[in-house]
Amino acid sequence: MTSTTGHRPPDDARAGDRFGRPLRSLRLSVTDRCNLRCSYCMPEEEYVWLPREDVLHFEELVRLTAIATRLGVTRVRITGGEPLMRRELEVLVARLARDVPLADLSLTTNGVVLARHAEALRRAGLKRITVSLDSLRPETFRATSGRDALANVLAGIDAARAAGFRGIKLNTVVLRGRNDGELEALVDYAATIDGEVRFIEYMDVGGATRWQTDQVVSRAEILARFRARFGAVEPIVDDTWAPADRFKLPDGRVFGVISSTTEPFCATCDRARITADGVFFTCLYARHGLQLRDAMRNGASDDELAGLLGRVWSGRQDRGAEERLALRASRGALAAQDELRTNPHLEMHTRGG
Ligand code: SAM
Ligand code: SF4
Ligand code: SF4
Repeated sequence: MTSTTGHRPPDDARAGDRFGRPLRSLRLSVTDRCNLRCSYCMPEEEYVWLPREDVLHFEELVRLTAIATRLGVTRVRITGGEPLMRRELEVLVARLARDVPLADLSLTTNGVVLARHAEALRRAGLKRITVSLDSLRPETFRATSGRDALANVLAGIDAARAAGFRGIKLNTVVLRGRNDGELEALVDYAATIDGEVRFIEYMDVGGATRWQTDQVVSRAEILARFRARFGAVEPIVDDTWAPADRFKLPDGRVFGVISSTTEPFCATCDRARITADGVFFTCLYARHGLQLRDAMRNGASDDELAGLLGRVWSGRQDRGAEERLALRASRGALAAQDELRTNPHLEMHTRGG
C-alpha cells in the first residue's frame, strides 16, 4: 500500500485538527457484544453484530494503539459493548501496559462480571476503572438495563477496590422519571467507595432509538435540584479537557456532570474512537469512519497507517453534539432502527461511549 499523506503526517496531526484540537485520548472498543440491554443504548429486540472475523486480534489492537500514540494519544480507555465480554481482556491490558507508552490506561465497564476480573486486570496494569451504574434500586436497575444484576455490579465494585483500584468513577445516565430521584443517593454511595459519580445527560446518539428531549435531565436542572436542597453548589476548577464538570456541595461531597446534550464541549474534544473491527471515528456522532482493518491486513506499514490517521485527524471538523443542539425543537433520535440495521457502526455499543 502506498502512502498518500505526504512526509510528516503524524506531526501534522500533532498540530491539531481544523479547530486546533490535539488528539490525546483514544476510546478503544474491544467488542460490540453486551450482557445488558440499557434502554438508552440497546433498546431493540435484535441487533446486527460485527462479523467475528472482522474483529481485531489483540496484536492488531495493540499495534493501532501504538500508532495512535505517535499522533499524540497518551490516554486510552478500553470500552465496548461490554469490554469484559471479550475473552482474556487481561491479556490485552497487559500487552498495552507493557508495549505502549501511555500516561493512562482505563476501562469503562457495566460491572456485571467485574468481580471475577478485577484482580487480574489490576495485575495486568490497568490504572483506572469506571463503572456504569444507573440505579441503586434493584427494580430500577432491572428496568433500565434489562437484567437483574445490581448485586453483581456492586460486588464488582467491591472486588475492584479489594484489588487496589482507587478513585473509581461511576457513570450514571440520568433519565427523567426513572432514576432522577436517586441523584443524592448516588453521590453518597460514591463517597462510601471513595469514588465519584458523574451524571451523564441522556444523549441522542445512534442506538438511542427511543430518545426524546423531555427525558433528558439537563446539567442546569441537576445543579438547580442540588442548589434547592443544599444551597450553594461550587464548581471545581480543574483539567478543562475532561468531559465532566465537577461540583462540590457545602458538606464537601463531590460529583460530576457530563452535559453532552445541552451544553456540549466539542470545542475542547481531543478524543477519537476505534471500533472492535478497526474503524477510526473522530466523533461520537460521525456518520463515516476510516476503515483501518483492511489497510492493516493488506500489509500497510506503521508509517502508512500513521499517515492515514494523521491525515484524517488534521482534517477533522467534527462538532457533532453542537450540531445536534442547533437542531433545537426538531431534534429526535439520531438514527432510525432500519438505518442501524444496515450500518451497525452508528451504534453506541459498536463505537464505544
Ligand atoms: N458497556 C460498558 C458500560 O456500559 O460501561 C461500556 C460501553 S458504554 C457504550 C459506555 C458509556 O456510554 C456508558 O457509561 C453508558 O452509560 C454510556 N451511554 C450509552 N448510551 C448513552 C446515551 N444514549 N446517552 C448517554 N450515555 C450513554
Ligand atoms: Fe448498557 Fe454499556 Fe451495554 Fe450499552 S454497551 S447496553 S451502555 S452496558
Ligand atoms: Fe467530541 Fe463529537 Fe462528542 Fe463533540 S460530539 S465532544 S466532537 S465526540
